[in-house]
Amino acid sequence: MTEHVDIAIIGAGPAGAAAAIAGARLGATVKVFDKAPYGRDKVCGDGLTPRAVAALEDLDIELTDAHQIDGLRMIANKTVRELAWPETDRFPARGAVWPRRRLDAALIDAAVVAGADVRWETEALPVLDGDRVTGVTADGSTIEAGLTIVATGAPGQVARMLGAERVADEPFGLAIRTYAESPRHASRHLEACLTLRDQNGTPVPGYGWMFPAGDGTVNIGVGALSTMKNFKSLNLNTLLASYRGLVQEPWELGPNLERPRAWRLPMSTQLRHGPGWVAVGDAAGLVNPMNGEGIDYGLESGMLAAELFVANPSTAPSEYDRLVGERFDSFLRTGRRFSFLIGHPWILRSGLRMAVGTETIANITLQVMGNLIDSDSKGASATVLNVTDKVLAAADPLLRRTRAAA
Ligand SMILES: Cc1cc2nc3c(=O)[nH]c(=O)nc-3n(C[C@H](O)[C@H](O)[C@H](O)COP(=O)(O)OP(=O)(O)OC[C@H]3O[C@@H](n4cnc5c(N)ncnc54)[C@H](O)[C@@H]3O)c2cc1C
Repeated sequence: MTEHVDIAIIGAGPAGAAAAIAGARLGATVKVFDKAPYGRDKVCGDGLTPRAVAALEDLDIELTDAHQIDGLRMIANKTVRELAWPETDRFPARGAVWPRRRLDAALIDAAVVAGADVRWETEALPVLDGDRVTGVTADGSTIEAGLTIVATGAPGQVARMLGAERVADEPFGLAIRTYAESPRHASRHLEACLTLRDQNGTPVPGYGWMFPAGDGTVNIGVGALSTMKNFKSLNLNTLLASYRGLVQEPWELGPNLERPRAWRLPMSTQLRHGPGWVAVGDAAGLVNPMNGEGIDYGLESGMLAAELFVANPSTAPSEYDRLVGERFDSFLRTGRRFSFLIGHPWILRSGLRMAVGTETIANITLQVMGNLIDSDSKGASATVLNVTDKVLAAADPLLRRTRAAA
């Protein structure tokens, strides 16, 4: 007999788990599949902005196991700005570092407590009837579902089946990280070095990070946008080693605790919904191009997908597409345009000088890049974002024609 559930979720990362928690708490029958075993790790910086903390609070996830973070230390050459998180009506002035092995376990444990059935070490694929997804196949069985939620992370086989791959000429990111012991592991600031250079001395649009985890270790990594010149020949291991050289002494770093591992940051998708299915999190290209943040977008989109299904199964996919669009599309589009702009080394250099030039401007930079602005906010950061949005929209054709990437 074919099994039937309300919601089938492929992928048990933050996006899939958030959908499972929200759906199961609202009374839906939920089944989650992940090809990895329970307790899997995800290559990540483990950084949670106030926006992500707010999303975790919406899900009633206790943050007691996470290391609290009070702000960001921005470093650009010799300029160091230590900034507190902005005070907004919408987000708490608190961030966190929560190693993904533990964060993801806490999330999926909450989904199980809410009643979701989770199948580990089980690859699942969507079942298509024409362009409609009717459920999934896994372990040789078929499970019918009212809604299939694709939470599979950076695009792979499932995205190919659904035509939900990234848009070829839009930017994406690559990042690499490892862990090391440091006496400064309990520091309450994330640290980002914005002036990285590649092996040829070209400024890299991206940053190096030290994210203190509060457990004796720090997460150290570097990330870069695909819009930079010679991106294809960028060696992330070399970039990480050179960044490590900069932070080794001030952080008194021990040896790497594991081999550095790299992964993709998808920032666009050709499609994020269709009859019977929606894509959430990285599978929907929901990563902030201005800071590489994806956990929050996964949590928010996962919750939204499940809530819309429970409210009205027949309109959920199209409503989801509309509402995700309203909440994120304009910001993420501005971020992608911005990443073409800073792909040009001279713009990056002068832009950075401006961005950290004074404490006030650095605070605005933090608020804008972290998407920590109320959409109806009238403050300076909202104005900067609106103006940037308009200027970059007008410059878009030029930005694409003159892109730096080889
Ligand atoms: C180096 C690096 C650093 C980063 N740092 C940060 C950071 O500090 N803060 C932040 O917010 N974001 C960061 N990001 C981005 C963040 O890691 C992602 O945005 C986030 O993990 C997205 O969550 P997700 O649930 O969409 O996907 P994932 O966490 O990738 O989960 C997808 C899951 O789907 C499973 N899966 C895939 N296909 C199948 C299948 N067919 N069947 C069953 N299971 C399947 C996988 O096993 C996996 O468990 C970073 C990314 C990188 C690469």
